[in-house]
Amino acid sequence: MSPDETTPDEMTPAPLDRIAQSVAERFEGDRRLVTFDDLLTQFQQDPYPLVRNSEQYLRDAVLHHGSHSVPGIGEEVTRWRLFDGDQATGVAALIGQEEAQQAVIETIFAAAREGRLNRMLVLHGPNGSGKSSLVELLQWGLEVYSHEPGGALYALRWIFPKADVEGTGLGFGGTTRGTADSAASYALLEAEDVAARIVCELRCNPLFVVPDSERAAFLESALESSTERRTESFRHFINGNLCPRCKQVYEALLAAYKGDWQRVVRHVQVERVFVSRRYRIGAVVTQPQGTADAQMRILAGDSQMAGLPPFLRSLPLFEVMGDLPDANRGLLEFSDFLKRNLELSKYLLQTTEKGFVTVGNRLFELDVVFCASVNERHLHAFKQLPEFASFQARMSFVRVPYLRQLSQETSVYREICSEMSRSRHVAPHLAEYSALFAILTRLERPRVDDYEGDLRELVAGLTPLEKAWLYAEGRTPDRLDSSAANELRRLLPRIRDEHQRETQYEGLFGASVREMRAALIQAAVRDDRPCVSPSALREQLREMCADRSLYRFLQVEAEERYHDVSALLDDATRQLGLWILVDVQNAMQIVSEDEVDRRFDAYFQHLVAFVQNRTVLDPSTGSRVPADAHLLISIEKLLPIQQPIEEYRRELVSRIGAYAIDHPDQQPLDFAKLFPDLLRSLRRSFFEERREAVTDVQRHVLLYDTPGFEDLPSEAREVATRTVQNLTAEDGPGGGYCIWCAKDAVDFALLHLEVAESEGE
Ligand SMILES: [Zn+2]
Ligand SMILES: [Zn+2]
Repeated sequence: MSPDETTPDEMTPAPLDRIAQSVAERFEGDRRLVTFDDLLTQFQQDPYPLVRNSEQYLRDAVLHHGSHSVPGIGEEVTRWRLFDGDQATGVAALIGQEEAQQAVIETIFAAAREGRLNRMLVLHGPNGSGKSSLVELLQWGLEVYSHEPGGALYALRWIFPKADVEGTGLGFGGTTRGTADSAASYALLEAEDVAARIVCELRCNPLFVVPDSERAAFLESALESSTERRTESFRHFINGNLCPRCKQVYEALLAAYKGDWQRVVRHVQVERVFVSRRYRIGAVVTQPQGTADAQMRILAGDSQMAGLPPFLRSLPLFEVMGDLPDANRGLLEFSDFLKRNLELSKYLLQTTEKGFVTVGNRLFELDVVFCASVNERHLHAFKQLPEFASFQARMSFVRVPYLRQLSQETSVYREICSEMSRSRHVAPHLAEYSALFAILTRLERPRVDDYEGDLRELVAGLTPLEKAWLYAEGRTPDRLDSSAANELRRLLPRIRDEHQRETQYEGLFGASVREMRAALIQAAVRDDRPCVSPSALREQLREMCADRSLYRFLQVEAEERYHDVSALLDDATRQLGLWILVDVQNAMQIVSEDEVDRRFDAYFQHLVAFVQNRTVLDPSTGSRVPADAHLLISIEKLLPIQQPIEEYRRELVSRIGAYAIDHPDQQPLDFAKLFPDLLRSLRRSFFEERREAVTDVQRHVLLYDTPGFEDLPSEAREVATRTVQNLTAEDGPGGGYCIWCAKDAVDFALLHLEVAESEGE
């Protein structure tokens, strides 16, 4: 009975049957074993998937995953989805690094067009910048793709039937069973009919059994009839050869069959291969202490030799082992490449360039994308060597710096904090705080001398914190008037890229994630506090900054505030104080952010109507009313306006007009998107107006749960209690604290904002 005929109330299959059925279905669906004839049929229909080399295969894997746009520094950038990994299966994403991704992908795509990458793809950058994750995700992408129908990858095996099946007197003796068709392939024989099998460790392309003299014409005719026009080079397929052992077997069979090629290919079993990092199939990472090479072993007296026909048994068969053969048809990474001795590095670079390796006088052609990760300090030392010039041409460099975008760095620490929170409560904003401090330590002072006149003054005045916000969201400092702010926004790409041609590029120096993670973990166990709190982390970071011998980034010479780690920690600390203050204010529930947003929107509705002499729709009555000049003035009081009000209003209206033309489908217009700086100013002004009230509540919160609390007037107790409840709510405005770290945070904000203000900030 087939499964289709079973009715729902019949017994479901036993677990073992179910597993067996599912494995069988997958086996069949994947087409794991194919005859050579089937492969040829497939080739005639669509030759490309069967002839591509490792660079082309990697390109296809990248394209298979696709790409999307994400916000970069000052512009949208392409992000390749392959680097997003897969949360469900625990494959972590490479956070940020879109520029490095793009550079890697462009190199691979160019190599795919040319038909071979004869250089090593060298990823260099400071320690822990994500070089290895980048390569790991490329390998993971290959793995996933190799399980897709479009990503089928085939390798060659040789198969030898038992005598009664073969029955051709090929030295096996015995008689023909009679059922075997003499033209049929042995590829799909039942296991009991197989006498021996030779598996190629290099996973030779089965189509290499087509003689190379025929291959070009063979490919051309198939390509002509296929629908998709392809322009890349297939020189690897056309000029490639079987590995020495496959060649040995092939020649021996051809001789035994007296040149009858049809009979030779009956022995070809086409096996689908799946790339695997775990089993080192087409995805290998070599550590510096490993022997990144290939060795040979003679197969004499091996059990698998026993079933071979006598003429093969007499050949000196051997097998190759090692990282190079394991990685064949995939991607090999040399981790910490320059930690090897120079001779070995030289040898590996030559191997990359030539595309083959010689083992015991035999030449093994390789089809591998070679990658290497290199620590910047090692690379720097390497560049000083006289040999560097000759090495350079064999390497294709891609820089992988530390991140400079706050949101990306923050998501790294969110992960770390959420891991830590399994054993100990972590106060809100510590991920943002850590990220902000790390980013600040990485920023370089603009190259002020390269700018002229007003621009020079503009960039010279840019503080690290202002630069961080400019990178993070295009935010310009509030101290600038609108024309200076526009000018700075216009300069952003230049500021972002001006250090990139230097050997000391931006993102080379600074705190690494590893160092910040260590600080977070130490803050967690500090003084046995119940949670990781703002003050614990700040103290930890302050101690770290005080001990310059601890990390390299603490030794970088300061240029004004840039790289002055103590000053930068103060900047980050003040920002954390402000974030906490906003939480307290939200938890007090005196002015909701929604209310501010509503008034922000109303301002622009009325402004446009006012300037154009039109009416506005009053949402409360549904009737149209004249624009409210008082409302305009009440909001403008709260905005940093440094020009005549008429001019200011006209400018806003013309920007709204231009934005409306660019966004014809946006109805109503999203003013928060158009004027994020103004919304922020407005929010802050509302906030400042209530600052005193907030400070009072903060002091009361600190008394909460102490005898002094009862002495407060009942109204104050009520507000403080509500604030504490909201702060300690799991979510909602200002929530996420526990009572312990809520008090710590409130105290922290009081202390550090007061200090900052008394310093005149
Ligand atoms: Zn082979
Ligand atoms: Zn807590």
